Amino acid sequence: MVRLEEWRGKEIFRRYGLPLPKGVLVRSLEELDRAFEGNTVPFPCVVKAQVLAGGRGKGGAVRFAETPVAAREAVAALLGTEFKGEKVSAVLLEEKLGISRELYLSVTLDRSRRLPLLMASSSGGMEIESLPDEAIQKTWIHPMSGLVAYQRRKVARTLSLPGPAQMDLERILNLIWRIFREEDAELVEINPLALVGDHLVALDAKMVVEDDALFRHPEYEGLQGELTPLEEKAHEKGIAFVEIGGDIGVIANGAGLTMATLDVLLQEGGKPGVFLDLGGTDDSRKVAEAFLLMTEAHPKVVFVNIFGGVTRCDTVAKGLLEAMARAPPRFPLVARIRGNNEKEGVAILKAGGVGSYTDLAESVRHVVALEEGREQATPTVGLRTGGSP
Ligand code: GDP
Ligand code: MN
Repeated sequence: MVRLEEWRGKEIFRRYGLPLPKGVLVRSLEELDRAFEGNTVPFPCVVKAQVLAGGRGKGGAVRFAETPVAAREAVAALLGTEFKGEKVSAVLLEEKLGISRELYLSVTLDRSRRLPLLMASSSGGMEIESLPDEAIQKTWIHPMSGLVAYQRRKVARTLSLPGPAQMDLERILNLIWRIFREEDAELVEINPLALVGDHLVALDAKMVVEDDALFRHPEYEGLQGELTPLEEKAHEKGIAFVEIGGDIGVIANGAGLTMATLDVLLQEGGKPGVFLDLGGTDDSRKVAEAFLLMTEAHPKVVFVNIFGGVTRCDTVAKGLLEAMARAPPRFPLVARIRGNNEKEGVAILKAGGVGSYTDLAESVRHVVALEEGREQATPTVGLRTGGSP
């Protein structure tokens, strides 16, 4: 997921011909002074910190200035500071337009329906999450037919705009759909899309570009979200490790099984927080390393779900015990290992005091119960032993 700052989004918008305010981007006060000399700063102006976080308007990161002196003050006050944990290294100065209404418009991917979704609302300006459902008009777009004329007209009509703005909107709808497709976006959002006189202008731009399409976009290199320190460490060791902010640690092998394990945990009401894909390995030391990494993430409970193939069950079991001997875990461990060398693996774990499950549903319920504190881990070894197969 690559999130683009407003000015990058607007550069793309401009290329496609969306109506935008005039503006200039500066990264320092020297650049600002050059912009003053070149008369490229419009007045009165809006001074906007370029960060990925939303809510800049409310948070003081969008300011207004009538004069160069005031604009300079605003830029100086924003550059180099932090907004919601992000350093402000660029500021956008745009002409301040007299706006009479603020609309919301976006195209995103509705993963549950597996279709692109166009959302439009006449209550723009605020974050979409804070709008009641009935205030948002949703139009699902078939990827083959695209956003068709009657859909555009319907959306344009329901926003009760003056004639010229209604025509603008139909054109804008076409453009954001094209941008969504052609720029490999996961999200294209204009909030607010402002009514200025009888016409519409995009005052803000938010775009998220799909990771898997990055090979087509060398221009975004280096913009990819940063890794957490643990993810960085894992990356160096060649372990696929992702932190997503929950309680349950998942160790599985292969992307498919790892994802399926997360899905089943979520379905049972669990909150997976870290997951680690062992991939194909026949090295118990690598398994141990992976497990130690998991320990550092401080999960509430760890679920090991292995289907032995290239990665044999006994290799995994040996690795787990090796890691536990080096750093006794402070969390309960639930294991389910099946497949190649299953018997050996189960026996090794059992000798080390770790029971293992064969049934997925049963083991997952147990994991979630431990997470929620409905069941307690065996206190002596700090490990919960499940029913033996
Ligand atoms: P966000 O809060 O981070 O989404 O930043 P926005 O770019 O959406 O700006 C926040 C608010 O500033 C908008 O909802 C507008 O009310 C206001 N704003 C931004 N640009 C202009 C402008 O050109 N004229 C006026 N009058 N208000 C503006
Ligand atoms: Mn906005």
